[in-house]
Amino acid sequence: MTDVETLTDRLRSGELRLHELEEHVDPETATTARRLFVAAETGADLGAVGEYGFDVVEAEANVENAIGAAQVPMGVAGPVTINVGDRSDTEEGTGSDGGAATGEYYLPMATTEGALVASVNRGLSVIRAAGGATARVVKSGMTRAPAFRVDGVAEAAATVEWVERNLGALREAAESTTSHGELLGVEPYVVGDSVFLRFIYDTKDAMGMNMATIATEAACELIESETPASLVALSGNLCSDKKPAAINAVEGRGRSVTADVVVPGGLVADRLHTTPAAIAEANTRKNLIGSARAASLGFNAHAANVVAATFLATGQDEAQVVEGANAITTMDVRESANGPDDLYASVSLASLEVGTVGGGTRLPTQAAALELLGLDGGGDPPGTNADALAEVIAVGALAGELSLLAALASNHLASAHAELGR
Ligand code: NAP
Repeated sequence: MTDVETLTDRLRSGELRLHELEEHVDPETATTARRLFVAAETGADLGAVGEYGFDVVEAEANVENAIGAAQVPMGVAGPVTINVGDRSDTEEGTGSDGGAATGEYYLPMATTEGALVASVNRGLSVIRAAGGATARVVKSGMTRAPAFRVDGVAEAAATVEWVERNLGALREAAESTTSHGELLGVEPYVVGDSVFLRFIYDTKDAMGMNMATIATEAACELIESETPASLVALSGNLCSDKKPAAINAVEGRGRSVTADVVVPGGLVADRLHTTPAAIAEANTRKNLIGSARAASLGFNAHAANVVAATFLATGQDEAQVVEGANAITTMDVRESANGPDDLYASVSLASLEVGTVGGGTRLPTQAAALELLGLDGGGDPPGTNADALAEVIAVGALAGELSLLAALASNHLASAHAELGR
């Protein structure tokens, strides 16, 4: 009997539990035994799940009870033309007021939605023909907001006052846990006998959720020893991670990144088969008025499509697409001195949580996707790779918005023409 057969037998008899396999054999054998056991129990053919190109040991920090891998097709859109010929780029190479990403990038997108890559590709080719987009990370900070119990409002106020007077000590405690993270500030929120402290960190090239959580735990120990507050939950949901929340749309979380482009009117006609006015109207009625009427947090057409596909391709935490959808798209007609009116288009993602180190970024296909962007690993200086990734994704989202709104506007024009032509 092979190792695998013995193990599946022991699983079947109940002698072993699924998560105990790695205590007896190497991770690869454990994965195979678990997959064969589940296949036999369910009658499912899991052969394809067992075909993967990474060492299971490399994925041990990313998944438990491994049975193989889920494969998602990956395509590229682009190139993304970004921050070329920025007039505000005063000191080349310093990144002082320029963007972190400069030049052309192929955008890796993992998706099962046909037409998505093609649509983003069309938008990117228009952006490229227009001379490229400009993008900037305008705010950066990963948050963790523990919840504390106090006796009442007086103790809550005393706790907040202590925190405000002892930011230096809190910074020292938090930063003792990391060589990269920096505590930027602590925002207090009081609700009766509950105190929430929203810790905000510069996590450099890491998305930073683990880093921020570990650092905040150290700061909480100090708070508990110096104030009447008792920690109830290290995450008190004011962070707010992986839930739709206005605080992220308003205050930002991770990177707040914004991208824009001016598309000459001639290009809008030739490549998008519509007019700046028709696109601007579609944006206003759909993305602004429609979203407002729906009380949406996202005032955009489908930014989540580009966020999700690039997150899957590059090893980001896919559940954070929730926050990545907090985006506002604007489209306006700009008068042009010589020729038809131009189109001004922008997209602003308030809470894009990305990293180029840590989490799923080190897995082989995800690392390869980051490598094709030239953004794998830590940046020099730290933080610049994750900033650049945020900017590139923002331009990808802008391309998706342009392409979809143009399609809506041109269909409208086409049907209007058909009606008028009768
Ligand atoms: P991580 O994999 O836990 O840690 C990344 C570490 O890389 C940093 O802490 C840092 O170590 C090191 N590092 C090396 N070069 C760096 C650079 N240039 N910039 C920044 N750090 C650098 O990743 P994470 O980003 O903190 O957390 C992401 C993971 O958290 C994902 O797997 C996600 O699924 C998971 N997650 C956790 C929670 C939670 O509540 N804990 C919630 C949601 C998601 P030093 O700190 O020692 O400097």
